[in-house]
Amino acid sequence: MSAKLIKGKEIAAQIRQEISQQVQALKAEKGIVPGLVTILVGEDPASESYVRAKQKTSHDLGFHSIQENRPADISEDDLLQLVQKYNQDDTIHGILVQLPLPKHINETKILYAIDPDKDVDGFHPVNVGRMVIGEPAFLPCTPYGIQQMLVRSGVQTEGAEVTIIGRSNIVGKPIANILLQKADGANATVTICHTRTKNLAEHARRADILIVAAGRAKAVTADMVKPGAVVIDVGVNEVGRTDAGKRILVGDVDFDPVKEVASAITPVPGGVGPMTITMLMLNTLQAAQRAAG
Ligand code: NAP
Repeated sequence: MSAKLIKGKEIAAQIRQEISQQVQALKAEKGIVPGLVTILVGEDPASESYVRAKQKTSHDLGFHSIQENRPADISEDDLLQLVQKYNQDDTIHGILVQLPLPKHINETKILYAIDPDKDVDGFHPVNVGRMVIGEPAFLPCTPYGIQQMLVRSGVQTEGAEVTIIGRSNIVGKPIANILLQKADGANATVTICHTRTKNLAEHARRADILIVAAGRAKAVTADMVKPGAVVIDVGVNEVGRTDAGKRILVGDVDFDPVKEVASAITPVPGGVGPMTITMLMLNTLQAAQRAAG
């Protein structure tokens, strides 16, 4: 039997509707409008399109949005000053610096300069530390979105064997930390795999929930999936172009054969992707609510 599709697009739309209602309530009750600044350095087309999408969503939700574009040769000091300006701006609750930054700028230094209370991407070590300890924190958007997809699709994480393929700081490590917390929507038994893992297929086959963030098409094939498992495919890989020049994107999972083995699976596109921006908006709303007291 073919797996049920976990449609991130629909779940994201539902969360956005909830955010919209809360934005209205915050405005009516406290006179506060969530504010988000997105900072883009250089002209990388992929980064431009991500920032455009973030700005559009932010506008659609009724946020106060500012877009700051800076040339690729901006100095590190000038970029730090820009971050400081928004750290001190009370109308801005979330600061997002689009990565990657040009090589002459120390990315870590810039991310560490963001006020942790405005770090809606959840990359500042203060928020990473809070997340690991299990204190309230801004959770990184893609892993937070994955957890919400599981919870809102009725997937039981408590006691589940979760295998994660990938150990990056933006996906693999944080989703592992989120799902192993002693909390609702977590309480899982987590295994993290990477390129040095022995017997990858064995770890994958043990999983009730298999989360794949390797960045490699067909990293997971049907023989690596336990019958009835839930498969979350984070990967986005360009495998060609249509005649019209449009990018053809696939995930990390060999979708058609795997969907005959799994009980539920996320499509690419339309799975994890739409959740990421939505969780950025939710973090920004929560930053504004906290600032409102
Ligand atoms: P990354 O930094 O390149 O990390 C990839 C991880 O996968 C590394 O830990 C690597 O192991 C591991 N890996 C790669 N090939 C493997 C293999 N054959 N077997 C086992 N482990 C393997 O990537 P990322 O930033 O986490 O992103 C992963 C994918 O998710 C990419 O396709 C990216 O485009 C996508 N993504 C999507 C979203 C979204 O919103 N949909 C957001 C973020 C990322 P080592 O550590 O040993 O090298």
